[in-house]
Amino acid sequence: MSQHTITLIPGDGIGPEVTDATVRIVETAAKQHGTTFSWERHDAGADAFAKTGEYIPKALYDSVSTTKVALKGPVTTPIGSGFKSINVTLRKQFDLYANFRPIKNLPGLKTKYPDVDLIIVRENTEGLYVGLEQEIVPGVCTSLKVTTEKGSTRIAKFAFEYAAKHGRKKVHSIHKANIMKLTDGLFLKCAQAVAKDHPEIQYAEHIVDNACMQLVTNPYQYDVMVMENLYGDILSDLCSGFVGGLGLVPGANLGEHAAIFEAVHGSAPDIAGQDKANPTALLQSAVLMLRHLDETATADSIQGAIDAVYAEGKTLTRDVGGTSGTSAFADAIVAAL
Ligand code: ATP
Repeated sequence: MSQHTITLIPGDGIGPEVTDATVRIVETAAKQHGTTFSWERHDAGADAFAKTGEYIPKALYDSVSTTKVALKGPVTTPIGSGFKSINVTLRKQFDLYANFRPIKNLPGLKTKYPDVDLIIVRENTEGLYVGLEQEIVPGVCTSLKVTTEKGSTRIAKFAFEYAAKHGRKKVHSIHKANIMKLTDGLFLKCAQAVAKDHPEIQYAEHIVDNACMQLVTNPYQYDVMVMENLYGDILSDLCSGFVGGLGLVPGANLGEHAAIFEAVHGSAPDIAGQDKANPTALLQSAVLMLRHLDETATADSIQGAIDAVYAEGKTLTRDVGGTSGTSAFADAIVAAL
């Protein structure tokens, strides 16, 4: 009987709703396979600040340092305030350099793009997300984009090693090196060097604006896509549209010493607290977490239950054309287990 301790960060907005649903499902499936989970719950963001005076309490850092694995709901970053993104801060603190986002259709859920199966690998610690912004004089602001050889090489290695291990055929680097000749130029140079070590995998490069057009015209030409931070943020949302939207797409933030699993979506304040949120994205992030923990049987049975509920199509949330609420959807998954 295996036992895991996980740091649980419910977050805000729809975070607590999708987290509760996910924990309930994971615990049900785990029990069936003789596995138990204990959760160390921690607030982050505005809620944590109100209680502890810190946006990311020390206890949360300590917990992730010990458990090495966290499941996290979205945490709001207000636009334009001095408030630093909690998501970005956590990724940087634990050097979770690889953001892994699989984009795959669910059975029975009709979209304009059937049978999409691609992987976005987003560099998670550099680029414009380093937060080095300043006001030079009133009316003139700058933001530094940081690209390093180390950061670019390790994200390219991650993409190629994933492709090699999982029988993927192609890796595309997405860039804007025609304009950002030094930063994106360095990114490409590093990716090209890594590509040389993997002659079995095709390698190509697309400029990001063209990649957007190519994606909506023919997403099937892509397999694994690797890119710097901001392009990865934007293309993840774009690609989520292929498979039914942000309510579905999971993510993993991976580093050498820790991993945080979280959905691509944000806190969706427009639907928070109304039992409307789709927990599938966080639930599929939990499936990635279970695979990371080598709990393959539990991961497979949750994915099987998700597939069955979508294939049946009777208990889906509104964002994917259904009429059910968050908890009714979670009940259906538990019943399918
Ligand atoms: P962030 O910049 O923090 O990632 P965002 O700008 O991408 O956030 P979201 O909070 O993800 O914005 O919401 C975008 C839209 O998608 C909203 O209309 C929201 O209701 C919808 N949405 C996001 N997540 C879900 C979900 N799990 N279930 C249903 N709808 C969702």
